[in-house]
Amino acid sequence: MIRIEPRAGTGRTRRGTSLHRKTAELATRDESQSVLSNTDIAELLAQQAERETGILSRAFRRAARSAFLWPKEVSDLLAQNRGLTELRAVGPFMEKQIRNWMEKPPRRAKTVPAVRQDFISLAEARRRLARRPAWPKKLHGDLQMHSRWSDGSGTIAEMADAAKERSYEYIAITDHSKTLKIAGGIDERALKAQGAEITKVNIAIRKSGPDLTVLRSIEMNLNPRGEGDMSPESLVDLDLVLGSFHSSLRATENQTERYLAALRNPNIHILGHPRGRIYNFRIGLKADWPRVFAEAARLDKAVEIDCYPDRQDLNRWLGGCTPSQDPR
Ligand SMILES: [Zn+2]
Repeated sequence: MIRIEPRAGTGRTRRGTSLHRKTAELATRDESQSVLSNTDIAELLAQQAERETGILSRAFRRAARSAFLWPKEVSDLLAQNRGLTELRAVGPFMEKQIRNWMEKPPRRAKTVPAVRQDFISLAEARRRLARRPAWPKKLHGDLQMHSRWSDGSGTIAEMADAAKERSYEYIAITDHSKTLKIAGGIDERALKAQGAEITKVNIAIRKSGPDLTVLRSIEMNLNPRGEGDMSPESLVDLDLVLGSFHSSLRATENQTERYLAALRNPNIHILGHPRGRIYNFRIGLKADWPRVFAEAARLDKAVEIDCYPDRQDLNRWLGGCTPSQDPR
């Protein structure tokens, strides 16, 4: 699912749960193990990008980010004598560089910059899921999806088809709202027209049989005071409203108050992509998360876990830091 932003905070910070650990061990595996994982390769690519300039630097940066999206470990592909150019952002030049590292792994950096910490690759996630086949079965739907109405690439019917393939029971169409112009945000009028299209898609689904419901929703842009940009009347007919911050995402002060204000906005059901972090690009906001989660639980509201590989927002250790408070 989603993303956020800040304001000069008055909230308390808890050192023990600080978001910005300065350093972390690069390798999660034994140092004596020499096989590089995709996560290790991403870090090497990111470091190489910092040594290069211009187009080359951008190519390495892009490859580093893409490494989290590669569906298989590079080591497995090489073991099967497969080339690497089937991977996103890898051309012949990049393949050669990666092969060199695989043959002779460079010394690992002791630390990874905070902006690249705590991301796991898609290949690793799949490996973990393969060990726990019960987990994927618990996934029944997706409550954050963009369609062509804003900045998505598929129609609502296409999104529904993709959901059926995954055996989802529900999906929510959460196109951006009007003030997020860069993402083609929609206004009240378009939202209403979209509602008519969703109704048609739901009727067609029911006729064809599968148990899937397309929910009406929106990813409403919030200002730093937690206020949305759509008229409250336009939201009344929606099944869900997601509220997300898209500005002031580089603030370094504690942002707890901003999150609490968003959760207390009566029009909001879900807080979207809470930290606004992006791998090797933006570190994301900090807040007193136990306090934010406690407020979400008190108000019976949800906090998104955006699993897009280069976002992972909330990140896993943060999402898991207060299980007793049960943020949904
Ligand atoms: Zn967003």
